[in-house]
Amino acid sequence: MTDAILVLNAGSSSLKFSLFTAQDAEPALVVGGQVGGIFTAPVFVARDAAGQTVGEKSWETGARLGHDGALAHIIAWLPTRYGHDHRLAAVGHRVSHGGRTFEKPVRVDAVVVEELEKQIPFSPLHQPHNLAPIRILLARDPALPQVACFDTAMHRTQPVLEQMYALPRELDDAGVRRYGFHGISYEYIAGRLPDVDARAARGKTVVLHLGSGASMCALKNRKSVDSTLGFTALDGLCMGTRPGAVDPGVILYLFQALSMSAKEVETLLYKRSGLIGISGISNDMRDLLRSDNPEARLAVDYFVYRAAKEIGALAAVLGGIDGIVFTAGIGENSSEIRRRICEASAWLGIELDADANAGRETRISRPSSRVSAWVIPTNEELMIARHTGVVLGLIQARA
Ligand code: ADP
Repeated sequence: MTDAILVLNAGSSSLKFSLFTAQDAEPALVVGGQVGGIFTAPVFVARDAAGQTVGEKSWETGARLGHDGALAHIIAWLPTRYGHDHRLAAVGHRVSHGGRTFEKPVRVDAVVVEELEKQIPFSPLHQPHNLAPIRILLARDPALPQVACFDTAMHRTQPVLEQMYALPRELDDAGVRRYGFHGISYEYIAGRLPDVDARAARGKTVVLHLGSGASMCALKNRKSVDSTLGFTALDGLCMGTRPGAVDPGVILYLFQALSMSAKEVETLLYKRSGLIGISGISNDMRDLLRSDNPEARLAVDYFVYRAAKEIGALAAVLGGIDGIVFTAGIGENSSEIRRRICEASAWLGIELDADANAGRETRISRPSSRVSAWVIPTNEELMIARHTGVVLGLIQARA
């Protein structure tokens, strides 16, 4: 019987899970999947490490499983298929915000949960969902070790200037500062860098995490020195439904001149802006790239424009760059977006290899390119499994 780590990533409408073995130095994926539509029309799917579907179930439309019901289904289903060979030894969770208190993964108890609840205002649309399965499992099985891994933790190495705003100092004391997000993804990429590009790993790299949420991180010697997301997950790049950087005066205008409520402004900023806001068609980059609609084109143009602008800003922070890495849904899958961002950033010394870019290769820059360019699929689940195993002493820490 092998010890196993269950990784959970709880969102507003889905509960994603992955089961990893915890016996060797590196966790190995056994099975992964999700329950989607947990408040509307729940659908469960599970796939093994080879991508074969090994479990499926759907509930009738209108069934409100919630996190509780979705977790109960996953926990009941796993032993029916893997119970003979695997013993659930621990659960690792993705948690959006660790605030100032948590600079690395931590074993969770009631006191930690209470502290994490204080970060909800900093991450109102992610943190409450992330905490839901932790609370449920603490109540159900207090002896089961749980570890929280934070999207903010990687960025705590950033210098003071990068973490601050030019606001009165008492606001900084109250926690109003730049935290940065997608840190679990950046940590995974930083761990892969020495294998793909030793020079960039030792030097200066900009990582572009372009998914439905999007950000960039400047790495120096694999440590985060700056990132485009700040206090909340709203800053920086244009995202699927979030605008990226907006003059704060716009927000004042929404309140004062348009008399919008705080809830309306929150919904506007988190759900109605970005690609969906500009195009009015979709928040999915695939739909926009397929469309001839001028508003869809405008949304894509803006996405690329913002990305190129932010690469320039991070290159200035780093004092030049040695490599760039594309990752997450858009970064890993869209050769067109990669091409356009690289072309807009050619002035930095990025020479794209068009065939490699179109051919799904890892290296997408020409040998002569001063700045190397890479596509590295991220693996946040593996990163969480590693952290969980290390915090609990189930596996050894890597160098
Ligand atoms: P999340 O932030 O939800 O984890 P992902 O990293 O999975 O997001 O990215 C999801 C996004 O990736 C989708 O919304 C879609 O816009 C984009 N995407 C996936 N495949 C492609 C593709 N082939 N071309 C362009 N965009 C893609």
